[in-house]
Amino acid sequence: MSSPATGLRQTVMRPTYHPRLINGPFEDPGLFVPFQFQRRAFLFDLGDLSSLSPRDLLKVSHVFVTHTHMDHFIGFDRLLRLFLGRRKTLNLFGPKGFLGHMKGKLSGYSWDLVENYENPLVLKVTEIADTGSATAVFACQDRFVPKDHRTEPFSERILQEPALAVSTTLFDHSIPCLGFSMQERFHVNIKKDAVEAMGLQIGPWLKEFKEALFASKDPAALFSIPTGDGFRRVRLEELAERIAVIAPGQKIAYITDIECSPSNEAKAVLLAKGADHLFIEAPFLESEKRTAIQKHHLTAQQAGRIAGTARVKQFTLFHFSPRYTGRSRDFENEAQRAYENARRTE
Ligand SMILES: [Zn+2]
Ligand SMILES: [Zn+2]
Repeated sequence: MSSPATGLRQTVMRPTYHPRLINGPFEDPGLFVPFQFQRRAFLFDLGDLSSLSPRDLLKVSHVFVTHTHMDHFIGFDRLLRLFLGRRKTLNLFGPKGFLGHMKGKLSGYSWDLVENYENPLVLKVTEIADTGSATAVFACQDRFVPKDHRTEPFSERILQEPALAVSTTLFDHSIPCLGFSMQERFHVNIKKDAVEAMGLQIGPWLKEFKEALFASKDPAALFSIPTGDGFRRVRLEELAERIAVIAPGQKIAYITDIECSPSNEAKAVLLAKGADHLFIEAPFLESEKRTAIQKHHLTAQQAGRIAGTARVKQFTLFHFSPRYTGRSRDFENEAQRAYENARRTE
């Protein structure tokens, strides 16, 4: 038997999402979020993607594009080239006008040979405006001519799966720009020592067990666990009680390219509320607020204040203007002070 202390150590929360900025803070913005133990990832923005390996990029199932300024969209071609010839569906979301931008990108190439590809790629593209969303399917076998147009009323919740949801907010950046948050419904920690104490092996069945919890399966139903020479059946409820600790789900927020208006700030706070990790732009220092206003961006102080007011546990700044090269610390210090001030006054 392990001691209680060992038990504690073994149930330390291992996050499901492992977000990381794709580039340095002075380079193109973008966030890569791989999922623990799954060959899956989300991508926020499509700037320069050259630092991501093909292996990582091929995990991407959903792409969320804030807006189509070049530094947020130029990476689409790399993604497309890598996915072309594979039997995959890639889901892409973007702001008002996104379907037109996607059409423009795709019509820049000749597609006379792709319709007979054995492994057809399908792009499911959704643009989101305050009036509603519009989705179209661009399939390799149709030479990427869009079809299956569908519209829906506006909803903040743009993706809903058993284990997670993605929400969006529409910001002003001289043009509409989307911010995003992803929220895990709840988090399941497996007590490895308890699994072993039941005489069971750690294995892929644990993934199915978690899926059964997220699917809200009947707690009295019997769950089958492979034992090498057969199966052991345990009631789902009993198994959950013995081997799982349910914790609040993880929340990640991504906000970039927003002007600092009171309405944007209020919306940003709401979107990032209580996030475990907020990734937020800070192109300028407060001393150059006038330039920030002219260019429709935030200052580091504003970013820190948003993070503090939203009471996020951790925040990371990015999208620094190249004029400040070598001065990352100045951004971090300014934002950290604003973060602490906002937390004190909240
Ligand atoms: Zn930008
Ligand atoms: Zn922009």
